[in-house]
Amino acid sequence: SNYLHHLRRTEPHLNSFLHISDTVLKEAEEIDRKIQNNEEVGPLAGVLVGVKDNICTVDMPSTAGSRALENYRPPFDATAVRKLRECGAIVVGKTNLDEFGMGSTTEGSAYQVTANPWDLSRVPGGSSGGSAAAVSARQCIVSLGSDTGGSVRQPASFCGVVGLKPTYGRVSRYGLVAYASSLDVIGCFGSSVADTGILLNVISGHDRHDATSSKREVPNFTFQSISPDSIESKPLRGLRVGIIRETLQEGVDSEVISSIRDAASHLEELGCSLTEVSLPSFSLGLPAYYILATSESSSNLSRYDGVRYGNQAVADVLNSLYGDSRAKGLGSEVKMRILMGTYALSAGYYDAYYKRAQKVRTLVQKSFKTALDENDILISPAAPSAAYKIGEKKSDPLAMYAGDIMTVNINLAGLPALVLPCGLVQGGSAGLPVGIQMIGAAFDEEKLLKVGHIFE
Ligand code: GLN
Repeated sequence: SNYLHHLRRTEPHLNSFLHISDTVLKEAEEIDRKIQNNEEVGPLAGVLVGVKDNICTVDMPSTAGSRALENYRPPFDATAVRKLRECGAIVVGKTNLDEFGMGSTTEGSAYQVTANPWDLSRVPGGSSGGSAAAVSARQCIVSLGSDTGGSVRQPASFCGVVGLKPTYGRVSRYGLVAYASSLDVIGCFGSSVADTGILLNVISGHDRHDATSSKREVPNFTFQSISPDSIESKPLRGLRVGIIRETLQEGVDSEVISSIRDAASHLEELGCSLTEVSLPSFSLGLPAYYILATSESSSNLSRYDGVRYGNQAVADVLNSLYGDSRAKGLGSEVKMRILMGTYALSAGYYDAYYKRAQKVRTLVQKSFKTALDENDILISPAAPSAAYKIGEKKSDPLAMYAGDIMTVNINLAGLPALVLPCGLVQGGSAGLPVGIQMIGAAFDEEKLLKVGHIFE
């Protein structure tokens, strides 16, 4: 009940949650009772988890931040949520997001704007801003987000928490509301790398409900046994770290660059060897991402016709039922993206846009492969700046898209990446957090978590 008091006290300032569970106390008492009676409880017994509202939960609405799904209650739990519950975790509520995950600030939610706990006048990042803010303000211990182009990593950086985007296919997408299916992945937030690893362990693995989920064995991502050695013993000796040149150039805040360079020196002190690597295709990733993500979303979002899910307009002709349901249900950013995607996929423009973007995607994949053959991990900032003011980029979508430059390439390549706090820059009253992004080879989350655990 202390916890619920904290949640109730902080929530009016932050608006991290779209729904709060009314069974938290009851579930906690039930776990208490089991412990008292020496009954078996799962490894996450009583752990309070926030779940992004585009991830289905059977006992709470799942709106994906959209009016189109305003009253939608899924008949099932997403696989990740089911696994968490099987381990004894308590879902405290559903966190705010940009509608369908389309945005970088959480201002694109149809319901509310979430504030950054470090400075309430700033955005928490997005689209998983609610999940990041909730962990940052200790409204929950860990949380789930989704990352299509950076939606776990950029808010982790803005809110000063740890965020992990797993390899594409590591975690089942069953029950995740689709944005761009070839890029979407459920990710984890925690206040330490160790917590984040424990969460990943629970939600990973093959699922017969998601044909793209990998059958690879899930290693042990929990490292409580590693005691962070002293710098003198060089615990990361031999680790080859490549710092991506294109991420430390013009357009990136100078204080962010120096935080990342300091973090790189710290990695060297821990025994890593550091080299600068160049990924010439890096800047092509952003336009390619926005073509591919909008194209896939134009197809995925066609299901919100008012017939199958959520809000239905009142109309006497079928066509106006579709039209009115969409007109009322979908926000302007979402509509714009559907139009962009439909345009890129249309017969006359397919070769010029979609096909070219696919070629860029292959190029990006190859260049990361080469760089990761020569290095164990790659590092970069997680975002070109720290958290900015609410409203600052709202009317300028291109400026907002540009802020995704550090993260989208990793989704195009399907790779895992870990973001963790590495410094503060000026802003707010206590400074603003900056995150370093560590990128690993496909399915090598283990290495990222080990390095992150020793680094932090
Ligand atoms: N900001 C990016 C977008 O709007 C990424 C969002 C995400 O990862 N869901 O597409």
